[in-house]
Amino acid sequence: MARYTGPVCRLCRREGQKLYLKGDKCYTDKCPVSRRNYAPGQHGQARSKDTEYGRQLREKQKVRRFYGIQENQMKTYFALADKMQGITGENLLKILELRLDNVVYRMGFASSRKEARQLVRHGHFTVNGQKANIPSILMKVGDVVEVKEKSRSSVKFKELIENHKGNTVKWLEVSPEEYRGRIVAEPTREDIDIPVEEHLIVELYSK
Ligand code: SF4
Repeated sequence: MARYTGPVCRLCRREGQKLYLKGDKCYTDKCPVSRRNYAPGQHGQARSKDTEYGRQLREKQKVRRFYGIQENQMKTYFALADKMQGITGENLLKILELRLDNVVYRMGFASSRKEARQLVRHGHFTVNGQKANIPSILMKVGDVVEVKEKSRSSVKFKELIENHKGNTVKWLEVSPEEYRGRIVAEPTREDIDIPVEEHLIVELYSK
């Protein structure tokens, strides 16, 4: 399935909630969800049928869009989550949180997951001192993510560090002045701030 390249705010409007895909704009009153909270398109304001399948599909799409991942990747993560001990839905969210692009975003080194993915692809980060330019790499406890030495003097990172708001999640320890963050624990469900009913995704993929 091809990657969606249209206007990202439509995705939030389709899901009826903020997915925080545009960085700073998401926190202002310019956010279209604050102004027009109905699905885009000609029939956007019509009431949609609330079937069980429809609800399951919406929850799955919401999570895919939130993390910016493709359907085939989602299925792979689900298979992985299903094999792990514990609750499959929570395992799925935990895996998604531990992707390198999400970790970079959670560390406050990018203003959105999309930007984090781009910065990782462009080779601005290292993991445990090694070059890491694949956004989907899964991090583990103890891993250290750093902005590459050469990239630290760029205007982009200088601005990000100057405006850094400190630790955003408790499973990460971030030292903005050292351009570094470390994973100190696995994320738990309470740490993951996505308004999603993940059990519906499990039901969808378990059919
Ligand atoms: Fe656009 Fe961000 Fe608002 Fe979503 S949350 S509609 S991406 S501004």
